[in-house]
Amino acid sequence: MSGFNTLAVHAGQEKDPHTGAVIPPIYQTSTFIQDGINVLRAGHEYSRGSNPTRNGFEAQLTALEGGAAGFSFASGIAAEDALLRALLAPGDHIVLGADGYGGTNRLITRLHHKWGITASAVDITNLDAVRAALRPNTALLWVETPSNPLLGIADLAGWAAIAAEHGALLVVDNTFATPYLQRPLDFGAHAVVHSTTKYIGGHSDVLGGAVIVADHLHRGQSLAEAVGYQQFAGGAVSGPQDSYLAARGLKTLGLRMERHCATASTLAGWLDDRPEVARVYYPGLESHPGHELAKRQQRGFGGILSLQLADESAARAFAESMEYFQLSVSLGGVESLVCYPREMTHASLIGTPLEIPANLVRLSVGIEEPEDLIADLELGLAAAEKASGAGSIQHRSLATA
Ligand SMILES: *Cc1c(COP(=O)(O)O)cnc(C)c1O
Repeated sequence: MSGFNTLAVHAGQEKDPHTGAVIPPIYQTSTFIQDGINVLRAGHEYSRGSNPTRNGFEAQLTALEGGAAGFSFASGIAAEDALLRALLAPGDHIVLGADGYGGTNRLITRLHHKWGITASAVDITNLDAVRAALRPNTALLWVETPSNPLLGIADLAGWAAIAAEHGALLVVDNTFATPYLQRPLDFGAHAVVHSTTKYIGGHSDVLGGAVIVADHLHRGQSLAEAVGYQQFAGGAVSGPQDSYLAARGLKTLGLRMERHCATASTLAGWLDDRPEVARVYYPGLESHPGHELAKRQQRGFGGILSLQLADESAARAFAESMEYFQLSVSLGGVESLVCYPREMTHASLIGTPLEIPANLVRLSVGIEEPEDLIADLELGLAAAEKASGAGSIQHRSLATA
């Protein structure tokens, strides 16, 4: 089988036979002419069911994850929602990694909860805790590694073994690692989800999500059939333009990840030596509790790191004072971003046991020159030092979180 970058460039990307265009056209069409009633020319009828641009991206990502089939959605959350609907029935229980994307927790505990789905949050690094959280009705284990925003590392083979023993499915959110660094299906996961908005799109210009499934039977149906039907009947598909942008981004994923990993590693080491920084969370640091595990199951340590500053005032000043690290949610683009997870991405967790510490900031390290980013971090640390101990802060409204 061809290597990663070869597949990234070629899988699913059929050249146009009519014109010889190297890049397959964007099939911006809702419907397809039939040569007779239900006589379809190339299998396409209506773009919710199938569209060549979307299908090309699905094939490309499926090849890179080593899956049986892949499905592309309008956002990462739409992909997660479709997967949950496809796999679960009322009364089912989920063992959910505690340190994960806030929106995933919200989707399960606030939306799917209404349909009789329950979930228990567990420490992703503690397999005994995962086992202890199982119930007779546990149908699904869901984990994200590296996790968001604390960069915890879950033992994928261990989680997969527990799922298999219990007859449950394992879903892995592979958004942070991407298939370039880690392939969860190889460790026994049954499905992978992505926010393709992040590293796969890679340029902060498109929303998208994807599900890639293994060849596996669940409640009498293959996972591919179950998720495919949900995609068609639920309808949260990605459109042709968005599918094209995701496919275009995916071609350079390997190159970008190499750079993201190298620069993040440099910055993590630099921050770790600074007295203003209380703690750095990056799996590439030898002091990280998941370092050895990450080395075994990932090709690199990723482009995201988090750090804790002296206190809340320092963290807020740091996040608001840099030039290249722009204050923004999201991650995985070529440009560096800084986020204050407690009140931005993870605001829905405030007041729960899972709330994010007030002195924590998350960096998505872009592909800019490392020395320019270090100069930028100097600005941030200087602002943090000045603000540290500043006392009470006016909080903005969290009503919409
Ligand atoms: C952003 C993100 C999601 C949600 O994806 P959207 O494209 O924003 O809907 C899910 N999981 C992780 C890890 C994410 O970072």
